[in-house]
Order: sequence, then C-alpha cells, then structure tokens
Amino acid sequence: MASNHTPTAPPPEVVLEARGLTKHFPVPRRGRAILSRTTQAVHAVDDVDLTLHRGTVTALVGESGSGKSTVARLLAQLHPRTAGDIRLHGVSTTVRGGRPFRTYARDVQMIFQDPFGSLNPVHTIRYHLTRALRIHGRAGRGRDGLRQALDELLGRVHLTPADAYLDKYPHELSGGQRQRVAIARALAADPKVLLADEPVSMLDVSIRLGILNLLRDLKERLDLAILYITHDIASARYFADETVVMYAGRMVEGGDSETVTQHPAHPYTRLLIASAPDPDRITAAGDGPDGDDGDTGEPPSPVAPPAGCRFSPRCPAAMERCRTDLPPRFDLPDAPGHWTACWLYDADADADADADTVAAATPTPTATSEVAS
Ligand code: SF4
Repeated sequence: MASNHTPTAPPPEVVLEARGLTKHFPVPRRGRAILSRTTQAVHAVDDVDLTLHRGTVTALVGESGSGKSTVARLLAQLHPRTAGDIRLHGVSTTVRGGRPFRTYARDVQMIFQDPFGSLNPVHTIRYHLTRALRIHGRAGRGRDGLRQALDELLGRVHLTPADAYLDKYPHELSGGQRQRVAIARALAADPKVLLADEPVSMLDVSIRLGILNLLRDLKERLDLAILYITHDIASARYFADETVVMYAGRMVEGGDSETVTQHPAHPYTRLLIASAPDPDRITAAGDGPDGDDGDTGEPPSPVAPPAGCRFSPRCPAAMERCRTDLPPRFDLPDAPGHWTACWLYDADADADADADTVAAATPTPTATSEVAS
C-alpha cells in the first residue's frame, strides 16, 4: 500500500505522541506485588517513542511478549506508566482526572483483539451502541435523534440495514460482524485516535481483509490516526503507512512501511519477515525458511533482559559491544525517516561485522500476508 504522504511532503499533523514510555510490572512475591521491596520487575516496555499522525496508520509489530500490546494499553491509559510522557494534541496527560483526561478518554479509543470478550453477551447491539453514544453526549435529541445516530454508526461499519442488527445479541453475529460492532462503539465517541490491538488475529483469514479495509476506509473518511498492533509484519506492509518494530520491550526499527518491509535493516526485522507465513518457503517436510530447522531462538526473559542489545543472544551478527552497550537509533540513508537501533549501522565505528553479515546470516525477506492471501 502506498504511503499516505510522500517523503518530501510535510508530515500530517501530530495527534498523539509518546516519549520515553516505560512500563515495569513488579514481580509478585508471596502472592503480592510490592515493587518497593523487590529488585525484580518485568521490563514490558522500555523507553518507547511513538508519534501518531492524523490520517495515518502506524503499525507496531513484534512477536508475542515484545511489549506491543502493553504500549497500546499505556496509550489507552488502561495501565499507569512507570515513566514517560503522553501528549494528545500537545497536551500532556500525566495527571489522571480533570478535563484533559476526559478529553483524552473520548478522543483515544481502543479496539480489542477479541470482539466477543469486549461486548457483554447479555445486552443487545442497540444497548451497547446507545450506552456509548450517551456516555459521549452524542445520542441526539429524543428517539428520532438516537435512531439517526444508531443508523449512522452502523452504516459507518457497513452493517446495514440497522434493523437487521440492533436487536441482536453478540452471540447471534459472526466474528467479523462483532468486530464491526466493536469498531462502531469506538466511533460513538467521535475519536481522533484508534488503538487497534490485533483487531483481526481472532478472525477467519477470509474476513480479515474486510476488517482491515474498513479501518483503512475509516482512516481516510474520518482522518483518524490509527495504531495497528500486529505480529504479522506482512499485513503491516499492506495496511499501514508507517511501521515500527519492537523486540523485548524496545523499538528496534521504524520508517515508511514499504521501506521497512522491503529493505529491513535490523537483524530482528529480517528474521520476523523471513518467518512470516509463505507457502513457497516452507518445504514439504515442514522445515523453516530455506530448509533450515526453523529454530530461531527464544526472546530473553523480561525479568532479566540482556545488557546492551536485547537481540544479541539471537543475533547472527552480534559483536562484542552489542553485549554491553545499548545501541541508539541510527538514521539510514536509503529513505527519509528510516532508522534502526543496531550497532551495525554506526558509521563512526570500526565494526567487525557489517550489514552484509546480516544479509548472509538471515534469510532474504519476502513479505507475504495472511490477510492479503
Ligand atoms: Fe543487536 Fe548487535 Fe545484532 Fe545489531 S548487530 S541487532 S546491535 S546484536
């Protein structure tokens, strides 16, 4: 998918910014979590910077446990953060409560992975949507105003005619229809930002594309900033304008989706792409890419992540400094805005390995998406 803006055009307006976002969960001891009395914590998210622009989809990609869903929950204010700042339209949300927080709760809406779990099964679709409209003061005047608002909401997610859905219960709808209702409920607030946490991963492959197309359509019609959380980097290429890759709680690469997925720089991004489902690369014996055994190692323990680069225990190009020094972001010359946190791209260093080492040690990426197939 082409980016929403060319690299030379000014980027769209910034809607939501996170700087230094960090979340450490205390390790439970004797059944109680007491951070002040323990030296251990789960390092779920460390020092994440994220910028969401109006009318743009940003994909946050990583394998299970990378911290991407925790980032979404921090942005949704479902978890208190350990450190960092979040700004909506430039206004800090450090303090809970008060008008800025109410504005935030209206403007930033979340769509969850499991549409069935997020809709109370004892209530009808009419109840769920009416309640959301009333909470956000958008239920219209009288019965006619409410009905018009309900029709409009369901029309936006292509569930028409509304009468066919309003009096049904969530279990009477398909998975795709339930996710459309969940999206309609989020739209009831007239949000500026949607945080979509793996919105299609629990749906059949055949209906994933329809939901992603709906979100893209909403992005364009309503000028929404969308954060798309996914483990499927190939779907990020199809759906997102920008892609950020996370590994073990840290951001490791970011940039225009086309560039990140077609010219990945970080060894982990290359591994992620090479591991994406692609029938052409899977041998008849079920081996991994290029006929190897598919064993690419495990992520580190989030309680005791490695010093330096967290990918170093799995990295085929790891150098001595990788195990001691945390790599900063390096801007890459191939495309504006493309960066990676990897010592291989330190132009000032006398590196004992280079990008060619990574290319030789990791399979050539070929992005193929389950949603696009
Ligand atoms: Fe990390 Fe070093 Fe590998 Fe780069 S080369 S990903 S810094 S271990």
